[in-house]
Amino acid sequence: MPTTKNDKSLEDLFLDSLKDVYYAEKKIVKTLPKMAKAAESGEVRSAFEKHLSETETHVERLEKVFDILGKPARGKTCPAIDGILEEGSEVMADYKGTPAIDAALVASAQAVEHYEIARYGTLITWAKELGMNDAAEVLKATLGEEEATDEALSALAEGCANSRAMRQAA
Ligand code: FE
Ligand code: FE
Repeated sequence: MPTTKNDKSLEDLFLDSLKDVYYAEKKIVKTLPKMAKAAESGEVRSAFEKHLSETETHVERLEKVFDILGKPARGKTCPAIDGILEEGSEVMADYKGTPAIDAALVASAQAVEHYEIARYGTLITWAKELGMNDAAEVLKATLGEEEATDEALSALAEGCANSRAMRQAA
């Protein structure tokens, strides 16, 4: 690797990743209502609606972390979440009106949650590393909700969406 002068630090990396997840959360706020609308089962719809209001809080918590850092809250395009959501909307279009639509929606939503869980886990580790325990606590509150959502979606996938899709396909 060529030796170039680069002074970037873990704090820069933390701030960049914060911008990445801020962009992602705002995009998820726009996408969840479409997913709720596309859901067949009331249970799946209300899971998305519940997580929409949590996601609005996730955006606010990130703003709090930017504040702790003394930086303006700004997003930075996150190609990873763009790709996950793009794939989700493709699947939504392909399975609209079919018995597999809820299974498709739950699977897409879980891909989103897993991305967020990975990101928040990393951000918490770095916040602690940087001695920013108050920021770590704020981020932990969100991580807990992402994990609970993932678990709820797993239960929905097993209990309703997947079995129904399989039954109808049989
Ligand atoms: Fe979130
Ligand atoms: Fe989430």
